[in-house]
Amino acid sequence: MRATACVGLLLTATLLLTGCGGGAQVGEQRVCSANTFVPNYVPQLERLLYWERFPVTVYFERNAHYSDYYRTLALQGFDQWVEATSSVVRYREVSSPDGAQITVYFKPDTRNGLTTYTFYPSSGRLVSAKIEIGVQGNNAIDIRSVSAHEFGHAIGIGGHSTNPDDMMYPNFVTNVPLKITQNDLNTAKTAYCNYFMGRSRGASPQGEETPVEATIVCPAAP
Ligand SMILES: [Zn+2]
Repeated sequence: MRATACVGLLLTATLLLTGCGGGAQVGEQRVCSANTFVPNYVPQLERLLYWERFPVTVYFERNAHYSDYYRTLALQGFDQWVEATSSVVRYREVSSPDGAQITVYFKPDTRNGLTTYTFYPSSGRLVSAKIEIGVQGNNAIDIRSVSAHEFGHAIGIGGHSTNPDDMMYPNFVTNVPLKITQNDLNTAKTAYCNYFMGRSRGASPQGEETPVEATIVCPAAP
């Protein structure tokens, strides 16, 4: 929850942070460490991933559970990250699933959220992400909050905060809008620290590595 006393390291390549209350693989960060933007919960994460560039493309699956109303709520949730990061994190909606980086599904039989993403394990670079947003109950506040939370995963926050005040805490209280806290923002900034420090990210590693897939299941209101 709070920044821990990890030894600050200038990351020159992929670094597995350990010994800080859990391990979080910080992606190919060349200009900062988990101690650059504090407080954060990077050490609590399973991994911290990143998109190589923004905007990321977002596609809403037009299946039987899709509605423009849900889409509007979801975008309002996503926009919380755009605003909090001063548009460093941003997206572009596309009308075709072909080539979409983030695909969004609405699920009528749950209030939970779920994000599955594909990434290169050595660098943490994201390839694609799928977001499932539970809309059971039709509660606008909750749908917006779950959307914002899942988008937090989809931009690279691979795990949860242990602080109930944070957007990325796994549970939420119904009818109480989730907000991006300084902890949340600093965690996202760590994934994209080059943007926030005015540096360019080094070229992503090229090679024949096969992307891997991981899923984060997010409990809903207890
Ligand atoms: Zn979650």
